[in-house]
Amino acid sequence: MVPMAGAEFTGVVGRALVVEDERPLAALVASYLERDGFEVAQAYDGAAAIEVARSLDPDVVVLDLGLPGVDGVEVCRRLRTFSDCYIVMLTARTDEIDRLIGLSVGADDYVSKPFSPRELLARVHAMLRRPRASGTRPGPVEEPVRAFGPLRIDPAGREAFLGGVLVALTRTEFDVLEALSARPRFAFSRRQLIEAVWGASWVGDEHLVDVHVGHLRRKLGDDPGAPRFIRTVRGVGYRMGPGTDKSAAGDA
Ligand code: CA
Repeated sequence: MVPMAGAEFTGVVGRALVVEDERPLAALVASYLERDGFEVAQAYDGAAAIEVARSLDPDVVVLDLGLPGVDGVEVCRRLRTFSDCYIVMLTARTDEIDRLIGLSVGADDYVSKPFSPRELLARVHAMLRRPRASGTRPGPVEEPVRAFGPLRIDPAGREAFLGGVLVALTRTEFDVLEALSARPRFAFSRRQLIEAVWGASWVGDEHLVDVHVGHLRRKLGDDPGAPRFIRTVRGVGYRMGPGTDKSAAGDA
């Protein structure tokens, strides 16, 4: 795909897949992404989305929740079995985001309709600015592995190990864990985590943080009632590091 004249990009910035059965909306979102330098494919139902994603190997998937046949939640689940692409889920109503939080579907971000394509693009860019799993960024200093009891977090390799076993995290989940573990004992507000992971320009429902912390806790086998790794700081947000309550002895 040739970038448009005047575009700041000098090549394809990535591959994007737009999954939306409302074809005019799919075309609109696709046109914005193309103008931004993405190679874009469109799919109009869930089954086609999975098929296209397997061959395209997208960096970003804009995924509508309401699809005929296989719905967005199921598409997201299936995508996550073979891809760690960035998934932005489109929902028809703001309150659907709460339901999605409960379902733990594995999307990286949520945008409710109606939305501005510019806002969507801003979010995609914020996500893509983050380091990639392949780790091609030249880091000035190799960061040491962080240890929290049986949990090891390797910022350079972007991997987490629990009892020596690799934990399969999405990029966003790793980024949240990376941010929290970079400042152990520091109580992050949701907004501070948003800024650390999604960027200062991110606008939306800050409970997105809870979605990802929920996923992390599940994957780390953490009980929210008695967490070993990610603690809830009531009225503030989250932190890592040893517990402060006197009953919580034994944190190494
Ligand atoms: Ca739809």
